[in-house]
Amino acid sequence: MTKPLLKVEGLKKYFPVKKGALGRIKGHVKAVDGVSFDVYPGETLGIVGESGCGKSTTGRMIMRLLEPTDGRIEFDGKELTALGAEDMRKMRRDVQMVFQDPFASLNPRHTVGKILEEPLIVHGMKNAAERKKKVREFLEIVGLSEYHAARYPHQFSGGQRQRIGIARALMTNPKLIIADEPVSALDVSIQSQVLNLMQDLQRYFGLTYIFIAHDLGVVRHISDRVGVMYLGRIVELSDSESLYAKPLHPYTQALLSAVPVPDPGFEREQIVLEGDIPSPANPPSGCPFHTRCPFRMDVCMTDVPPLQETEPGHSVACHLYTEETAGNDNKKLVTEGSI
Ligand code: SF4
Repeated sequence: MTKPLLKVEGLKKYFPVKKGALGRIKGHVKAVDGVSFDVYPGETLGIVGESGCGKSTTGRMIMRLLEPTDGRIEFDGKELTALGAEDMRKMRRDVQMVFQDPFASLNPRHTVGKILEEPLIVHGMKNAAERKKKVREFLEIVGLSEYHAARYPHQFSGGQRQRIGIARALMTNPKLIIADEPVSALDVSIQSQVLNLMQDLQRYFGLTYIFIAHDLGVVRHISDRVGVMYLGRIVELSDSESLYAKPLHPYTQALLSAVPVPDPGFEREQIVLEGDIPSPANPPSGCPFHTRCPFRMDVCMTDVPPLQETEPGHSVACHLYTEETAGNDNKKLVTEGSI
């Protein structure tokens, strides 16, 4: 069986909340609270959830831009949290990130050529002539032209800037790319161009992606599997086909009901969730979704539902699917086949 390229186990990130002039810690914001998943070579795992659900924090911990409070991250057989500075530097060649706002992540005072060359210099890869050649090559690969190397980021459109961000991530020949909302800031027409480019590059270079987004519609076509996060936890994890055809968690069902259906003759009832996402500094007891869930039962307020596999490749964290409560006829808000 294929080994995962990335293995995340029980990952947590708690940010201390300080109070008063002495800065005493009065609590913690549980941004990520025990997340586990595997990512296999060549696949795309989509991670989806509302803002503040912990999806970007998870991506940043994998990059070690943030230190986990607890948990393990194993990449290519190595435990990342145990790596020293030199090994970590080498690892960063293999794991790269594409950010939501390419403008903020590209140095405005550097030419695009210099921006693309920089990762190669940092990692001591190639001589000056080879670096310049690779910059020209990768500009073409992402759909730009050689002459763009002499221009500055502000001279490009949003979509072109994201192409530059993608080219920069590719320069060190990474194995894994973590794309954090890479198309959210772009017009819808440009979004699909960038998504298509990412898919082409994945096939061409054999890349593995973690694709973070707040919208299930965006990750649908690019993801092989999707993890849905709510308040720091994964509440559903499944292969894409099964998740979109038969969402199990009431939160996934609500998210999916908001995704427009391409078929003009087909209408889907939108499920509007009541209330706001609770504060991760003061998360609800039991199921984190119970304050907004239309199917809430007594057990939901006291017991955290574990993420359990209900059928091969499809796991859900919801008491509607645990043995004692399974069989409840109300468990689907969106019935199979109506998506
Ligand atoms: Fe709703 Fe209970 Fe399931 Fe949570 S565990 S999603 S509150 S039914």
